[in-house]
Amino acid sequence: MIEAPIRSSLLERLSAVLGDKGLITDARDIAPWLTDWRGRYHGAAQAMVAPANAHELAQIVRIAAQTGTAIVPQGGNSGMVGGATPDQSGAALLLSTRRMNVIRAIDGQARNVIAEAGVVLQTLHEAVAAKGLRFPLTLGGKGSATIGGLVSTNAGGTQVLRHGTMRALVEGIEAVLPDGSLYQGLVTLKKDNRGYDLKHLLIGAEGTLGIVTAATLKLVPALIDRAVVWAGLESPLAARQLLLFLEDCAGHEMEGFEIVPQRCLTNVLRHVPGTRAPLSGAHRWHVLVELVRDNPSAAQPAERAEALMAQALERGLIEDAAISASEAQAGAFWKLRDSISEAERAEGPAMQHDISVPVADMARFIIEAGAKVEARFAGTEVAAYGHLGDGNVHFHVAAPKSADVSAWPATPGKAISAFVHDLVVEAGGSISAEHGIGQMKRDELARLGDPARMAALTAIKRALDPKGIMNPGKLIAL
Ligand SMILES: Cc1cc2nc3c(=O)[nH]c(=O)nc-3n(C[C@H](O)[C@H](O)[C@H](O)COP(=O)(O)OP(=O)(O)OC[C@H]3O[C@@H](n4cnc5c(N)ncnc54)[C@H](O)[C@@H]3O)c2cc1C
Repeated sequence: MIEAPIRSSLLERLSAVLGDKGLITDARDIAPWLTDWRGRYHGAAQAMVAPANAHELAQIVRIAAQTGTAIVPQGGNSGMVGGATPDQSGAALLLSTRRMNVIRAIDGQARNVIAEAGVVLQTLHEAVAAKGLRFPLTLGGKGSATIGGLVSTNAGGTQVLRHGTMRALVEGIEAVLPDGSLYQGLVTLKKDNRGYDLKHLLIGAEGTLGIVTAATLKLVPALIDRAVVWAGLESPLAARQLLLFLEDCAGHEMEGFEIVPQRCLTNVLRHVPGTRAPLSGAHRWHVLVELVRDNPSAAQPAERAEALMAQALERGLIEDAAISASEAQAGAFWKLRDSISEAERAEGPAMQHDISVPVADMARFIIEAGAKVEARFAGTEVAAYGHLGDGNVHFHVAAPKSADVSAWPATPGKAISAFVHDLVVEAGGSISAEHGIGQMKRDELARLGDPARMAALTAIKRALDPKGIMNPGKLIAL
């Protein structure tokens, strides 16, 4: 609890910088932003601050540093690990970037865009598309996720296979550091060897080392057309062989390669209206492959897909395939993939794990770890789906049908997650492939993280944020 006179003097100082628009103290207006997207974490804040620009934000951070006030940055609040939700003490300021939403420049020749932290991903897509360009990162939360959040979680999505995660797409960063200084690193340099790279420290830092105010992002030419393939196959091992075949033959024409077990497709068809199976027969596993063309001299993706799938069929890699005949059908195939999370939720309680292992090992991991989990926790059912081409799947462990839903996930759920994470670490993998650590995985990272790495992370945090005001309790506990 904050004592009233201290609180009012803090609010007066904030108000002098932000005015009425930028300082929100009415609990009813703040409430919707105090719960995370999955509804797992509920926090409290003494106020929400929404600065209009980086200079206002820097002043706010200076005041917070002087008063030792915690700041929790929040963009679209679409994160999956409770990173943007304050703790329940009510001591923190929730810092919303919603008003910092200007696209400052789109440079068609340099092929980049400078976007402020609060720009929503979908808005950015539309703005650069109007100039014949494309920002090649997309994900299910694109209508809410912001540039600041995407940078700070080093987000991935469905085009990582070709274009990489945010880390590969951020060319420059502007940020307010925990002492309130403004780091101006938006200029893009292809070569720059002046020591530690602050940009890369801030990418994926989840707001624990500062607040990203803007970023320079790489653009690529807009797509001319695409073809989406839905193929049925025998096992994740066959999917891995198909991936290798397509990497050899299609190279950069392939932008996405997603794996879907039959269980997930069944649940989507059951719970999501307007969906239908692309193939008539039954298959234990499926893959979705996207082939694209952004160069007029390249072959048409639909023709390429047909030729490649005919070869894959001949080699026994796939059992059957459907190739999108229109943009609407391509969208329908993607909808099946994008609806899995929603359908799994509708089906019942499950423990979700966003994990990666080396790409070459993922198919075997899915089979072996799945069998171990189901043997160890009777009645559970594993559904691993997602970015096989990146060695990253969402490893869901569904509760037995007879499970006491009120106890799940607390009782068996935690033990299941620890078991899965142990298997991941044994396989040399990561317990967070793309969603970050936040508050959800903080203790698991502390339990399983390489000690030398954890010590270095802690030292960096202490050095840059000695007062511990930047998103405390997230990523690492001090
Ligand atoms: C339906 C759905 C599908 C998704 N699919 C994917 C996917 O495929 N791949 C993927 O990677 N993610 C996915 N996500 C997760 C989410 O969209 C990403 O984590 C996204 O990057 C979060 O952006 P945000 O603006 O909502 O950030 P928030 O949720 O608001 O914040 C996320 C973290 O970043 C910090 N933060 C936010 N803004 C700033 C800033 N300006 N400076 C410093 N720190 C900041 C917060 O404190 C928090 O720790 C999905 C989410 C949804 C809802």
